[in-house]
Parts: sequence; structure tokens; C-alpha cells
Amino acid sequence: MSRSNSQLLRSQIDWRSEGLYYFPLNLHFRHLFGTRVQKISLDGGFTCPNVDGTVAKGGCVFCDNRAFSPSRRVKRDAITAQIQRGIEGLRRRYETEKFLAYFQPATNTYGPLDKLQTLWDIALEDPRVVGLVIGTRPDCVPDEVLDLIDQYAQRTYVSLELGVQTIHDASLDWMNRGHHHDAAVDALERCQGRDFEVGLHIMLGLPGETHAMMMETADQVAKWNVDSVKIHNLYLVHRTEMVEQVASGQVRLLELQEYVEIVADFLERLPPQMVIERISGDAPPKDLIAPQWALHKGSIKDALNATFKSRGTYQGFRYTA
Ligand code: SF4
Repeated sequence: MSRSNSQLLRSQIDWRSEGLYYFPLNLHFRHLFGTRVQKISLDGGFTCPNVDGTVAKGGCVFCDNRAFSPSRRVKRDAITAQIQRGIEGLRRRYETEKFLAYFQPATNTYGPLDKLQTLWDIALEDPRVVGLVIGTRPDCVPDEVLDLIDQYAQRTYVSLELGVQTIHDASLDWMNRGHHHDAAVDALERCQGRDFEVGLHIMLGLPGETHAMMMETADQVAKWNVDSVKIHNLYLVHRTEMVEQVASGQVRLLELQEYVEIVADFLERLPPQMVIERISGDAPPKDLIAPQWALHKGSIKDALNATFKSRGTYQGFRYTA
């Protein structure tokens, strides 16, 4: 289905009549694919330009990227095996036979075109894989990569996930991102009129960001009118530069209710037809140091719903086109 048809479909979904306070990803997929669809996380063997020294070294301060060596290679059978393992694990748990190949860790367009094409072709060989999700950075999507993604979007579902995180350059500098907000503006302009969906990753609770600054990011995301947004709380994992910053008190992590109030404020500003892929971060329990509440997704969702209920608001409540 083309992006414009998907947008039309989304505009017709009355998610509020289902008792929801925001438009969740599973509802979007149920309408788009007629069934539940699960993402299989795949490691294509990429690194990042702020890890390998191209734009910076060390990677983002919150990211445990030590495994992203610049010379990583993943063999064809390794991708096939990841898909098989992923499907076996997910199909019983979620009772579904449709999956999306999600190229998730590191920067999944940071490589030669023939590598990208080979990985995506292998992933789509399994008939149960009904599309691609490609996670990347806004400074790693040159036109030729977007053209290639667009070709895939002519024959299957494709979502391009851009790690924008924030519109504030000082925060991007703090996280050692290696690019500024203008990279996101440029990437999103060049994604216009193409046939794949575009999703943004946003991080809330960054040090130095006031409530007003986070709402400026929300208003910009609303203006871009992308297809989806994935919201993460800032969290602390082992083996990152941030460990020291939190220990010394330089960086403070948000409490659950504090975070949930900000997420509610953020979602109220977004268009009602924008899909909310996630409302909190997703660190593996063995790696997470804090906040521990981030491990309890059900409680975060309940707290967010309760906040909306007590306010009498919902996603889009403050949105003005
Ligand atoms: S957060 Fe993303 S861009 Fe930053 S180092 Fe980790 S994988 Fe790379």
C-alpha cells in the first residue's frame, strides 16, 4: 500500500471510539495488514558515523555501542538465521504469521548501496516477511539511499525511522550525536513525496531541556506531519559515558509521573492520525541501571492513560493544523 493510501486509511480510523487516548502502532498495523504484525529485530552489521570517527568518536553518550565495530560483516545465512529465530520466537507468543524485518541496531543505511540491497532482499525472501523497517540517522540518508528505499516501497511496506531525538542543537551536542537539527530538516524535506512511511525517534528528559523546549520539539514534529513517532525516556545503561554523569549528579533521570505528564503534553500537540509507536525506552533488563520503572511498560501505559483520563484530554487535543 502506498504512503498516501496508508495516510488516508489512518485518517479514517476512529481510535477514540475504541476507548484509546492515543493512536497505537498495533492498531495501525491491524488496519494496514488485516492482522497483528510483529517486528523482528535484525542486526545487519552496521556501525555509526559518530562511533567510527567520521563525525565523532564514542557514539551517543547514552548508547552502549561498543559492539559496533567499523568493520562488521554479517553473512547472508546470519540474516536468514536471525529471521527464522525471530519468527519462531514471535509467532507462538503473538499468534501471528506476518512480520516486518526491522534493521534496528546502529545506523542501518550507513553502508554501500549493494550491501543495503542484499540485506533487504534476503529479508524479503521469506513470504512471512511483509515489509521492512529501517532505523537510521538523519545525516545518513543521501538521495541515492532514499531512491533505493523508494524502489522497495513500490513492492512492499517500508518505514524509515529517523533518530531525530530533539530539535535543540545543545542537546545534540551533549549526546555527542555528531549532527545538528538542520540534518533532520534536510532529511525530512528530501523524504517528501516518497512512497515509504517516515517515523521519528524522540527522546524526552534530556539534561538542559526545559518543558518548553520539549514542547517546541513536539510542535515541530506535529508540523512535519510524519507517519509515526517513537518516544523514549532518557535512561541509563551499563558501559556508557552517562554512568559517570548520573553518578556525579550532572544528569538527573525523570521520575515516572514526571515523565508521563511530559509525554501526555507532547502527545496532546501531535496530529491525531500520527501513529505512536512507543511511549518509553526499551533497554534490555540486564543492561538497564535506571530508571527501573522503565522496565514496566504496562505500568507506564496505565499511568499515561490515567493522566489523560484525569485531564480529559488525548492525542491531538491541542493540535492545530
Ligand atoms: S544511539 Fe544510534 S546513532 Fe547513537 S551511537 Fe547508538 S546506534 Fe549510533
